[in-house]
Amino acid sequence: MPSPLKGEGESVKISCMTEFELIRHFFARQPVSRADVAVGIGDDCALLRPPVGQSLAVTSDLLVSGVHFLPDVDPASLGHKALAVNLSDLAAMGAEPAWFLLNLVLPEADAVWLERFCRGMFELARQYNVQLVGGDTSRGPLTIGIEAHGFVPETVALRRAGARAGDRIYVTGTLGDAAVALLHRLGKQPLSGSDFAALVERLDRPVPRVREGMALRGIATGAIDISDGLLADLGHILEMSGVGARIFLDKIPLSPICRTHVGKFGWEAALAMGDDYELCFTVPAQDTGALEKLRFACGVHCIGEIEAEPGLRIVDELGKPYRPSFTGHDHFAKPK
Ligand code: ADP
Ligand code: MG
Repeated sequence: MPSPLKGEGESVKISCMTEFELIRHFFARQPVSRADVAVGIGDDCALLRPPVGQSLAVTSDLLVSGVHFLPDVDPASLGHKALAVNLSDLAAMGAEPAWFLLNLVLPEADAVWLERFCRGMFELARQYNVQLVGGDTSRGPLTIGIEAHGFVPETVALRRAGARAGDRIYVTGTLGDAAVALLHRLGKQPLSGSDFAALVERLDRPVPRVREGMALRGIATGAIDISDGLLADLGHILEMSGVGARIFLDKIPLSPICRTHVGKFGWEAALAMGDDYELCFTVPAQDTGALEKLRFACGVHCIGEIEAEPGLRIVDELGKPYRPSFTGHDHFAKPK
């Protein structure tokens, strides 16, 4: 691509930096150097060596200012989250993360902002040993696109389509924490300072369940990561597997703070608002012992069971059918 950041009277902060200097300064220096990267940043393409006998798992996610995050969000959190949501997709396939590309649209070349953004992104990259191998940089409304690549043997990749009647349905961690933090940030939900501090990490710095996803190879029959809300994302497993399910509200794992919120305001934060980045997966009843042996540090809870009859049936604490008022996030949903 041509170089739109060059020669347009850059931001005063790094007015002397060209696009190439910016790439060299912020992106070419990074904490991870993998042996399977023959050529990384700097040439027309990266040259990568995928392992023999494994499939390349490829995913990308966009974060758009004003749509996915508030414009004044901490850039370090944004750097973390932009990479974390992609690693979460790899986790949902049981893939081992390896490489990523960064497509960055910036309103200005702000060195302080870029420094912080890179700190958040590269700290997570270091934890998961993923190397930045290329990308593109342009001027425009703040948008971050990351494409991540990982490896998984094709026969054990976790697909959405494998759930069967009788399988148990599980979720890792707890649901709804990020949603409650977001409601507070939007001024819609009062929270004490300490409660907000406890929840906001879940919103700003989600932990991708990569080790858990890899451990579920050969155990989970269907899997997805929860980005748009449990109901919407479990719905994708059901649709692609051609099955239905019954889930129980009193089995949904909640943190103590989220439980208080749900008691006062209803279940939507935990069921439908999304941004959880936990895994939802199904396991045949005879394999639940193998799952228990994995002893996930983040915890794992059975929330219901796959049924042959299509549709998702939600049962409340009293054993009655529960009808949510809102079922999940869809960017192109028609207004009611
Ligand atoms: P081209 O003109 O061939 O697209 P660029 O000038 O855009 O090349 O990029 C030069 C090199 O810098 C390439 O290796 C590209 O992958 C890398 N690069 C550009 N922008 C980024 C970025 N935001 N993050 C990481 N690498 C980048
Ligand atoms: Mg380019």
